[in-house]
Amino acid sequence: MFVFNFIAVSLIDIRLAFLAVAIVPIIGTISIFFFHKIYNAYSAHQEQEGELTAFIQENLSGIRVVRAFARQKKEKERFDVINTEQKKRGLTVLFWHTLYWPVAHALCGIQWVSALIFGAYLTLKDPLFTPGMLISSTFMFSSMIWPIQELGRMITEISRSYVSFSRIHEILEEDQETVKDNALIHSGTLKGELVFDNVGFSYSEGVPVLHNISFRCEPGETVAFLGATGSGKTTIINILPRFYGYNSGEVYLDGKPLNHFGRHFLRQNIGIVEQDPFLFSMTVAENISYGVDREVSQEEIEKAAKAAAVHESILRFPEQYQTLVGEKGVSLSGGQKQRIAIARALLKDPRILILDDSTSAVDAETEEHIQAALDELMKGRTTFIIAHRIQTLKKADKIIVLDEGRIVQMGCHDALLKEKGFYRDVFDLQTKIEEELAQELSAG
Ligand code: ADP
Repeated sequence: MFVFNFIAVSLIDIRLAFLAVAIVPIIGTISIFFFHKIYNAYSAHQEQEGELTAFIQENLSGIRVVRAFARQKKEKERFDVINTEQKKRGLTVLFWHTLYWPVAHALCGIQWVSALIFGAYLTLKDPLFTPGMLISSTFMFSSMIWPIQELGRMITEISRSYVSFSRIHEILEEDQETVKDNALIHSGTLKGELVFDNVGFSYSEGVPVLHNISFRCEPGETVAFLGATGSGKTTIINILPRFYGYNSGEVYLDGKPLNHFGRHFLRQNIGIVEQDPFLFSMTVAENISYGVDREVSQEEIEKAAKAAAVHESILRFPEQYQTLVGEKGVSLSGGQKQRIAIARALLKDPRILILDDSTSAVDAETEEHIQAALDELMKGRTTFIIAHRIQTLKKADKIIVLDEGRIVQMGCHDALLKEKGFYRDVFDLQTKIEEELAQELSAG
């Protein structure tokens, strides 16, 4: 529309045509100005929206903790601060958006009127410029100016999409890990001997989380990690399946550097039982056989479930092994979930096992069941276990006490008890609590 009308007006009078498009660079500059303003305002708004969503999500999933600590009022106040900021930023976006229209309209109006006045002037002064020419040009002005105004609006609109695009692009541009790399070791049988040699690690540059971690673990041995929150237990364990790569030192698996093993192969050989295992919205049987890279028969699934002491519970479900788990099916208790995760690990039959103190959140009776299931699972496998309770720690071949990413004590239960330190303090404290509990129970 712009090009054709411009040509048509030029054919009538070239001076008039150029005057009518004088607005183009001005609208262009203004659109770019608005583009930047809206881009920045919308980025800030989206960032705040992320914070708001994270806050709501955290509060909803932790609602019990909030109520247990009577923090409702405080949390509401925190929500208010974040939400008010979100509203403020939203209003800034709207302000720039709504400002564009009046500014663009006013400018285009001025442009139109000036072209009209100039046309009228030509009609009066120039005998060759007839009133008919003025009328036809006037119609064409609007058809020239309108697309430019729209283009400006689109440029400012694009700024919002561009923010969203940049945010998605950030994720798409993340390096993808190579799970199957044929150059690496991806077959064979592992013994499960692990050696950490002076391993150092940091999540972000300049903030070391692990320092000089060195220890050795023979095939089939159990190593337990003890330490305060944030001491680096999970980080050490996350290095094994190569979820993260270490920055210095070396980890050897069966005498070969860990990085020489393909991630897929490593993960096939490592079983993980988390503290709060994640189950999918699938049937119980599918959840048990999840991650096992082969066809699994019903007998095998049941055998694993029996060994994990969860078979009886499954038989009580409405459709037994075919019962759906999750929102649309049955809700499982913490203990049942853990035992299903144990059955899953048993079926996978890995050489290396990672356990996140899986029994800390269940009652005594279930604990006994789980402990028996875990003992069955750990038989003959190299096991890394994050533990807090002496009962679990006692049985480990090696106990490693961590503090701020450093090994501060290492040895078996008896040896560590003889030393003065964190381990003995924890032991004394837990024994005292148990004794007091026993006394209270007998007194009652
Ligand atoms: P633990 O399991 O003993 O509680 P972690 O290994 O989880 O300790 O954490 C060790 C340190 O690493 C902590 O200071 C923690 O804040 C930090 N950390 C843990 N995970 C991450 C992560 N994904 N990104 C950055 N820092 C992390």
